[in-house]
Amino acid sequence: MEDCVFCAIRKGEIPSTKVYEDKDFMIIKDINPQAKVHLLAIPTNHVPYLDIMTDDGAALLGKIILKISKMQEELGITDGYRLVVNQGDNAGQTVNHVHIHIMGGEKLKDI
Ligand code: AMP
Ligand code: ZN
Repeated sequence: MEDCVFCAIRKGEIPSTKVYEDKDFMIIKDINPQAKVHLLAIPTNHVPYLDIMTDDGAALLGKIILKISKMQEELGITDGYRLVVNQGDNAGQTVNHVHIHIMGGEKLKDI
């Protein structure tokens, strides 16, 4: 999708620190970390918002969550982690390509 920073990263047009990549999704370091470990899990397919996700897209998000739980050691989040999806303006979504924030590596503030 044109003008999408995450699609551009996927294609290698914008630099990033990729931690994991397969055909379905990638995990990169967030450029503006809000926790000691702050990663983004980003499906390859460009879907702007969670609320227009198809069943297939939702199934992939489930698979990604499971994969994260199996990658805790290599992601540096073995003592616990938080997953967040921002949907729309009130949540402060800034990149309109669905992604999961992965935060951990330290004791996080309660929400
Ligand atoms: P959200 O507010 O949920 O849409 O999250 C977008 C996230 O993408 C923010 O945490 C940004 O810091 C992050 N971000 C934006 N541009 C880049 C980039 N080029 N590389 C890595 N992370 C980015
Ligand atoms: Zn995109």
